[in-house]
Amino acid sequence: MENSCLDQPPHQVVIVGGGFGGLYAAKALAKAPVNVTLIDKRNFHLFQPLLYQVATGNLSPADISSPLRSVLSKNKNTQVLLGSVNNIDPQGQKVILGDEAIPYDTLIVATGAKHSYFGKDEWEEFAPGLKTVEDAIEMRRRIFTAFEAAEKETDPVKRRAWLTFVIVGGGPTGVELAGAIAELAYQTLKEDFRKIDTSEARILLLEGMDRILPPFSPDLSQTAEKSLKELGVIVQTKTLVTNIENDIVTIKQGDGVREIASKTILWAAGVKASPMGKVLAESTNVELDRAGRVIVESDLSIKGYSNIFVIGDLANFSHQDGKPLPGVAPVAKQEGEYVATLIEQKLKGNILPAFNYISRGSLAIIGRNLAVVDLGLIKLRGFFAWLFWLLVHIYFLIEFKNKLIVIIQWAWNYATHNRGARLITGEELPTPTKLDDSHTYYDSPNSRQPVKV
Ligand SMILES: Cc1cc2nc3c(=O)[nH]c(=O)nc-3n(C[C@H](O)[C@H](O)[C@H](O)COP(=O)(O)OP(=O)(O)OC[C@H]3O[C@@H](n4cnc5c(N)ncnc54)[C@H](O)[C@@H]3O)c2cc1C
Repeated sequence: MENSCLDQPPHQVVIVGGGFGGLYAAKALAKAPVNVTLIDKRNFHLFQPLLYQVATGNLSPADISSPLRSVLSKNKNTQVLLGSVNNIDPQGQKVILGDEAIPYDTLIVATGAKHSYFGKDEWEEFAPGLKTVEDAIEMRRRIFTAFEAAEKETDPVKRRAWLTFVIVGGGPTGVELAGAIAELAYQTLKEDFRKIDTSEARILLLEGMDRILPPFSPDLSQTAEKSLKELGVIVQTKTLVTNIENDIVTIKQGDGVREIASKTILWAAGVKASPMGKVLAESTNVELDRAGRVIVESDLSIKGYSNIFVIGDLANFSHQDGKPLPGVAPVAKQEGEYVATLIEQKLKGNILPAFNYISRGSLAIIGRNLAVVDLGLIKLRGFFAWLFWLLVHIYFLIEFKNKLIVIIQWAWNYATHNRGARLITGEELPTPTKLDDSHTYYDSPNSRQPVKV
């Protein structure tokens, strides 16, 4: 018999990364006449928008993670492989996974991004960022260790440093962290310590621009700032961090330079693409932007390779209004679904119009009953925004089990003002270094306004 379509092996789609982009692409290919291999260096999908709740003891890591195998177990055309892809061979159409080469007809790369220190990688040791479960556990360890250490500390200067929390970056993650730490200090932990008054804690949110939450409309940014201040957070805009070292953050505000002593410095600024961007650039000559993101064509493929697609945070898609799409979950999800449809239609000999992102708005939570929601024409704030935020996050959580557990956990925490996942794990922190009275402390208990010492 002559070779016919029936004799040909099914089209092989390899997806690298099981985050929002990769997972939604795999789900959308469930009924397509293709074989899908999804490779991730983790065996679970992580719902990053709720990571800050792990970092602040509200949820446990498993509440926001879903095993990729179980999520995709009903997709009979899909296999999941655990491993870190370190190279690709675009000519031979293979993905290199350790000493294995996985062949593909179509490749989707969705390996995401992580925080960037704007070239100052040495700051990471003192100011961890938030991207993985390990990062969240590390932040949680630092936050709760700070209160414990302050309780034991007799030197007031050092105690102030333990009770000063600095969050760098006033985007949604910074705002959410600042609001959650304020609730911890001023509400949840208030009765739990004997020597310290946790409400003496200073929570500083530093932002380089003239307002927090830059993606939101200015009036919502203002509402968010006001709500944070009411919660007790010291919001400092137009503030540039110029150094972070040995528990000291150096900031520049206008012409003034100050140092803030803090044992808990958290990084919520800057993004850089995953190293797979560089791998793709070296093997295909595709162009990268300054953040290392891959410049993609209007159908999310890369120049010269119509069978390689890059989606999600790793992609720079600038075909809509000349600016790259934001690094948010809905972009990754819609891109994943688009590429899946494109592959299916291509196999049928059809073509698709260019990818078009439909933005449904931005949301950020500030605290209990407090959030801001920007849906373009409709803007919500306060309780209704908070309720909307809760419903959206529950809706987008991947598995039913996660949805149920998170609803129960949130209901319990709301009713009791408690945060049950306050575990300190890992190694002990070193004792403070170099702290003395020459640094700036934020020490006005009633107003929580900065004072210079
Ligand atoms: C703290 C935080 C809060 C956020 N809050 C929000 C929010 O409120 N709303 C919102 O819309 N977005 C939010 N985002 C952004 C959102 O999570 C991302 O835009 C989205 O996850 C991007 O999806 P992705 O598929 O591109 O990458 P990711 O979801 O990051 O997935 C990348 C996957 O690739 C895997 N991987 C990486 N390298 C390799 C490799 N070499 N080999 C194999 N696997 C690899 C990783 O393990 C991971 O599973 C937040 C992000 C963070 C970090």
